[in-house]
This record gives sequence, structure tokens and C-alpha cells, in this order.
Amino acid sequence: MKTSLFIKILLLNLIFSLNIFSNIPDLTIIMVIDQFAYNYIEKLNENFNYAFKDLLKNGITCRNAHHPHGTPATATGHTALNTGAFARDHGIINNAWITPEYQKVKSDQDDSQNSLVFGPENKLQNYGKSAKNTMCSGLTYEFTKKYPDYKTYSISLKSRASIGMSGASGNPIWFDDKTGIFTTSKAFFNEIPEWVQDFNANYNLDNIIKNYKWELFYKLHNKYLYTINSKTKYYNFDYIDFHKKTHYKYVQDNKTLISNKYLKDYFKKNIYEYPEYSEFIKTPLANKVLLDLSKTCIEKNFDNTKPIKPMLLWISLSPLDYLGHTYGPDSIEAIDMIYHLDHQIKEFTNFINKKIGEKNILFILTADHGIQPLVKISKKRGYDAHVIKANELKAEINNKIKTKYNINNIVYEIKSCQLYLNVKELNKIPVDTKNSLFKNIKKIIRSKPGVSKVYTDQELLNGNFKFSSVENFYKNQIYLKRSGHIIIIPNKYSTVAEEKYGTGHRTGSKFNTHVPLIIYQPGVFEHKKFKNRVWIPQLPATVAKILNLPKPKNCEFEPIF
Ligand SMILES: [Zn+2]
Repeated sequence: MKTSLFIKILLLNLIFSLNIFSNIPDLTIIMVIDQFAYNYIEKLNENFNYAFKDLLKNGITCRNAHHPHGTPATATGHTALNTGAFARDHGIINNAWITPEYQKVKSDQDDSQNSLVFGPENKLQNYGKSAKNTMCSGLTYEFTKKYPDYKTYSISLKSRASIGMSGASGNPIWFDDKTGIFTTSKAFFNEIPEWVQDFNANYNLDNIIKNYKWELFYKLHNKYLYTINSKTKYYNFDYIDFHKKTHYKYVQDNKTLISNKYLKDYFKKNIYEYPEYSEFIKTPLANKVLLDLSKTCIEKNFDNTKPIKPMLLWISLSPLDYLGHTYGPDSIEAIDMIYHLDHQIKEFTNFINKKIGEKNILFILTADHGIQPLVKISKKRGYDAHVIKANELKAEINNKIKTKYNINNIVYEIKSCQLYLNVKELNKIPVDTKNSLFKNIKKIIRSKPGVSKVYTDQELLNGNFKFSSVENFYKNQIYLKRSGHIIIIPNKYSTVAEEKYGTGHRTGSKFNTHVPLIIYQPGVFEHKKFKNRVWIPQLPATVAKILNLPKPKNCEFEPIF
């Protein structure tokens, strides 16, 4: 009896240790470039010489991949990449929202004692972060459930991106721009993992930042600049006049970050008595730091001894987003950052290929959302482009409604394209008055240049729209008690924003929903082009299939192949 049981256990151990059940890639990397609109690929395709060139040439490329959301924000997009669910089901409708009790809640906010964020020396901060607002599990959960011995991490500058990808069961690491360290929270770890603590201690980030000056990529690597016919093809576009410096008239920040000053000039102490990291996070250096941390993560956690324990690593590169909001997608800053990324990612893949072998790595590249051109630039090009000014609109509606219905401050706040109404007042009035009130508010909004359509949340929820229609994108994003009561759909070139605004991704236009999607594992997943429309939530279903996992529970989408 005893012997047979012993043999059984031995056999079971052998089976598991040989990893017979899981013929999956040794390393799966899902790399998300924050705000990497597909538009950049169309624009710069000919100019790529490194990772993007390789991936576009060799990988399975989806040329028509979209997020199915009306305001595809960072938290919403990263959570969709993990869960494969609509925002209406995963609940992360935006980076932040307003509750019916008028509380502003960030997507990853959780101030309970069990979720406090670690500061230097693991000292607990007075604010917390977790995935408690995410209403469903995702790919990371299925991975940790099926393979409890295998490692997974997610890395980003932003907590909402890192936690979006990890969900509650993964291991998110992010950059705390108050204290300048990579950190996490008690919701995920008892202390900052040792390899991250070592990275913080040894990388010497503050010194590197102080001595950093952003140089144009093709000035640094000038063999291309001077050997290809048109020596300025990398920075010369007929629709960009940045060489004349007039571009800065239109952007949020009227100084360039390139070849201008050393970052130390921006590196003053902030209100927290730590240096100010607000310019650093907008530079190619910040992408390098994230990729260096990712390399360290692999070095310290990936065990090359057989049998291999496969690893799932999420990397979200945030700087392009910080930069794009300020300077817009047609700026030399955004374009040069992408040239740097082309090279930096190649350098990163060279490193992992050498360590793990490229045939054993599944590499995925995508984005959480795109970016629309600066409204002022679209206007200059002759398009019907307007900034629908949120505060002005709020004041006008509140004044007119006060006069007509004697209700004070009916609009509590306009956030992205959503109007949060004063719920207390709304609950007091009879249904007939309410209907007339909504009608009037919609009429005021519709009269504004740049507005395409206006809906109430109920109209969207009860409407039957074509799956790929912009109305449906907004409908997919409604989660009652987090969403606004009235939703503005601007035209393609317009947006709802505050007065001082660069640009963003607050509408369901192609600029904002259309992103790159490339899947590549040499000899396994390669050399295919999908021209038809693909939905980004199909990606976790696809990766689940490749990794022999069940599809995430709230994913209604089928694998791409
Ligand atoms: Zn983003």
C-alpha cells in the first residue's frame, strides 16, 4: 500500500516537474505602449529600422484592431487587456469617476489599511491602491490559478496601468512619482519585492535624471540620417511645422524637451520634499528605465534550469502618453520618442532572446488607446474641430436650468464626455419634469459647435446599435453608479475638455480606438496579416488559448485565431 502510494506521488511529481501538461511559451510578454495609436504606424512605417520593423515584418499583425469603448482611457484599456471584458462588466469606466454620493474615486484607489502603498524602506504611505474596483477577473487570474508555481509580474510607471493588467491576483509594480521609487501596495505584497528594492537602491535614478539630456534619436544614430537619400525624412513631414517652431503655439507646454536643457533644470523639490519627476516621465529615458526594470525582473525571476517554469510578464510603457497629452501626436517629441522606442525595444528583445531563446518567447505588442490630434491643429488644417469647454458648458446649463426650473447646480461635474448630474435634486423632481429637464439639457449641449450627438445613459442602455457604432462603444462603457447621466459624443476632430488642454483620447473616433496589435513567436506565430476588424478584448482570449488557460470569465470574445 505504502509503496504504491509513494510511487503514485513520485509519478505525479515527475509529470508536473516535466511540465507535460503545459506546452506553453517559456516567457510571454504583453507589451502595452500607452497611447500608441495605429496612426503612428501608418505615418512612420517606412522610418522604422529596429523592433517595430522586425515585428511588422515577421509577426502576426492585426491592422484593424480596436478598443470597443467610447472613451478608451488608460485604466479602462489596461483592464480590458487583462479581462477581455467591456468596461460595463469590468467596471473601470475611466481613470476616475464620481459616485452618487459625490465622491471622486480613482480606478485603483483603496485606502483601507490592507492596501497602503509602500514608500522608501517599506514605510507605509497614507494612501492605498488595489484592484478592488475591478469587478471581474482576467488572464492573470487564470494564469496564477492554473500555474500557481509560475511567476507573473506587471510593470508600468502608472499604478492604474499596472493594476489594470495584474488584476487582484497578479503582482503589479509601478513608479511612485512622489517618492521616486518603484513600489507596490500591501494588497499585493508584504513588502516591496527584494529585486525591486535592490533596483531602487542601485539604479541611481535621480543622478541619471540630473545628467540626462534628450537628444534626437537619428542625430545620435546618424548613420541612417546621412545615408538615406532624403536626409531629413525622419523629421520632415508636410503636416508638421515643428522645424519652424510654430507648433509650440498650439501645445500645452510652449517649450521643447528635446536637446534643450538637462533634466536637472526641471528637477526641483516638490511639495513632498522629493524631486519633481513630472518632466522625467515624458522622456525616452523613462522608457529605458522601465525596460531596465523589466530586464531585472526577468533576470531575478526567470529560472533557466530545466524544467522551465514559464512566466507571464506585462509591461506598460507610459511616457508616450504623458508626452502626447502635452505636445500632441504630430510633435517632434512624440515622433522622436517612437524612434527611441523602436531601438530600445530591439535592445530589450535582444537581451531576452539571448537569455531565453527567441523561439521560446511569445511577444505581444499593443496599446491601451490612441490619441487624437490637437484640436487647434485640426482646425488649422480646415477640419470642423472644437474644444467643447467643460466648465463654460456646465455654467451655461446650470444658469439656464436655474431660470427655467428653479433647480440649483443641476450639473455637478463634466468629466471627459460625461455629465454627472446633481442626484439629490434629480430625485426630488417628478418624472415629467425630469424628462423635460433632460430634453432641455440635451438641447443646450447640441447647440455647441463640435457636438455630434447627445444621449442619456438610459437612452444608450436601451438603444439597439450596430456593434461597431460609436454609440455602442459608449454603451459598452456604462456602469451605473460610476457613469455620468448624460453622454456627449463629439465629432471626430473635437473633444470635451477644460480650457487649458493639450489633447487626449476622450472620444470613440478611430484616432482613439484604433491601436496596433502584433503577436510574434518565431516558428509558431508569425507571418500573417489580419486585415479585418479585430477587437482588443479578443487578445486575452487568444493568449488564454495559447497558454492552455480557460478564457477569462467575463470575456465575450473569441480568440483571433
Ligand atoms: Zn493610457
